[in-house]
Amino acid sequence: MASKVRLYVDHPLGVGQSVPLNRDQAHYLFGVMRLAVGDVISLINSRDGEWDAMVEKAGNKNGVLLCQTRTGELQLPPDLWLVFAPIRRERTAFIVEKAVELGAARIIPVQSEFTQTANRVRQDKLQAHCVEAAEQCGGTFVPPVDDLIKLDGLLAHWPTDRQLMFCDEAEIGAPVGLPELPGPWAILIGPEGGFSPNERAKLHALPFAHAVSLGPRILRADTAAVAALTLWQHHLGDWG
Ligand code: SAM
Repeated sequence: MASKVRLYVDHPLGVGQSVPLNRDQAHYLFGVMRLAVGDVISLINSRDGEWDAMVEKAGNKNGVLLCQTRTGELQLPPDLWLVFAPIRRERTAFIVEKAVELGAARIIPVQSEFTQTANRVRQDKLQAHCVEAAEQCGGTFVPPVDDLIKLDGLLAHWPTDRQLMFCDEAEIGAPVGLPELPGPWAILIGPEGGFSPNERAKLHALPFAHAVSLGPRILRADTAAVAALTLWQHHLGDWG
């Protein structure tokens, strides 16, 4: 049996709740997926878990779904932010997709000194990648993606209770060194060109920043993001 279509909606979900569909959602469900009145799909909204909803109205430009039963609990990721310097467009999309699958509560693209200005990020496109990743991987939570911010600016207003796993390529070959500190965390991944000496000195001086090695080889930024998320989830996250 084909698996049920899963759709993220920014709308409350609950027994008997009617959910109106916008034009894009109607096109996807009724034009692309060829669903019709009476069909049942799964809805998520990052708040109320996963719900079965039946198609009540199906139109070219709109429609209405009726929530019936909750089929899954909300599964929130740990309080972990992924802070990363954008790289080439399709690889940046890969990073945010893996952050959804591996578990991140917030995604913050940063402009560091060596970030290629060509890697302009579109927050709306990255957010859409997160929605798609959650729909496809069975997730019930979609992390918000921030607008691009300068790394200096982000660090200047850093919440001091949040630890920072600073993946520093200069630590290459050293023991990983991720301190087992409880509480909220963030992972920082640099761009293709790495961190500048000035950035590295500033980061090493921050009490909440912990320079971490990701092994004896230089990883591509997208590989490093996956490796760091995996390492953190295993040591401090919800992988037990
Ligand atoms: N251009 C840099 C160089 O050759 O040293 C490499 C930068 S690497 C492509 C992009 C980012 O991935 C780095 O800024 C760092 O955050 C992370 N990274 C890659 N390999 C790493 C390692 N072995 N240890 C820690 N971080 C690493």
